[in-house]
Amino acid sequence: MQATTNPDLAPRQASLMEELRRAEGELSGQDLHARLRGGPGAMGLATVYRHLRQLQQRGLVRCRHLPSGEALYAPTERDEHHLTCVDCGTTIVLTHCPVHDLRLPGEELDGFLPMYHTLEFFGLCSRCRKAQPPD
Ligand SMILES: [Zn+2]
Ligand SMILES: [Zn+2]
Repeated sequence: MQATTNPDLAPRQASLMEELRRAEGELSGQDLHARLRGGPGAMGLATVYRHLRQLQQRGLVRCRHLPSGEALYAPTERDEHHLTCVDCGTTIVLTHCPVHDLRLPGEELDGFLPMYHTLEFFGLCSRCRKAQPPD
């Protein structure tokens, strides 16, 4: 499998990519399903998830799971990381990628072609920290 900047996508995958790129933040499968409904790119929810999985396998889409179990999707070209509160689920977007300049030593890659990375932080937001009873 080769990562290319302009992969030829199936029409449905192209609609999904377009919708994900247009979105300000991440989208769930349900969001995508709702946004495409009634338009030329409309497809069933199961089809949305099947194509999202294929886009993930091609390294074009990444998936993040919230503590609630909800899965959110975003294009991998958008290098974005989050702080997620395990208590209330609040998400804060980091303005910089903490590992952008990280280089993997070639000898460790053993021919592996990295396409994208994910890095998420989980903890307590300031509001939930204040709400915690003191020990
Ligand atoms: Zn919180
Ligand atoms: Zn990053």
